[in-house]
Amino acid sequence: MDRVCSRCGCSGFHYNRSRMRMECDSCGAPAYDPQQDQQLMQYDRTYSQAVSHLAAGNWDQTIRLLNPLMSQYPTEKRLYLAVLRAATQDFSDVDMENSAHRAAASEAWDKLVRLNGVSDEMIRYGRRRYEKHRDALNGRRTRILVWIFAAALCSITAGGLFAAEHYLLAVLCTGGVAACLYKVFSSHPVMVARQLMSAAPNYQHNPFI
Ligand SMILES: [Zn+2]
Repeated sequence: MDRVCSRCGCSGFHYNRSRMRMECDSCGAPAYDPQQDQQLMQYDRTYSQAVSHLAAGNWDQTIRLLNPLMSQYPTEKRLYLAVLRAATQDFSDVDMENSAHRAAASEAWDKLVRLNGVSDEMIRYGRRRYEKHRDALNGRRTRILVWIFAAALCSITAGGLFAAEHYLLAVLCTGGVAACLYKVFSSHPVMVARQLMSAAPNYQHNPFI
């Protein structure tokens, strides 16, 4: 081996398994590893490129650049935070219609919870998303109640028409009852009620599921 220890000048090295590095035989100083430097430089450059794309609003490019880094450095919180930022368009996209972005955001969120990296910004975003979801649910509940009311009205009218022997109109109203009830059941009333009764999410709750 032609390299020498920078601290003591010894030219013998061995592999230290617990530290996962080459060390000087006599003083234990770590051997200079140009390959590791190269790797770190590559990481820094790719990350800074991803951050530039993020600043420019190139969400897909940001995620694409960060994906290989995440598999190389799986405990780096800032990578997941940057992916989450890109997937949510810097926490501005509350609807998350894009399913690929939603999947990426969901995964990044889970990793940040696991790595203890949940930020205030994430919590605020999760709450905004929850409130928007709740508003939509309230809207659905109102529509369901309107259809139930219409069904009741139709059935009373149908009863009155049958009694008055206006059979054709009565049958039409009965059809109206069926149509209104179909509308009620196709709006999944049980699911809406259950979701409305569920408690507000805590900070660990993944808002993308
Ligand atoms: Zn040495």
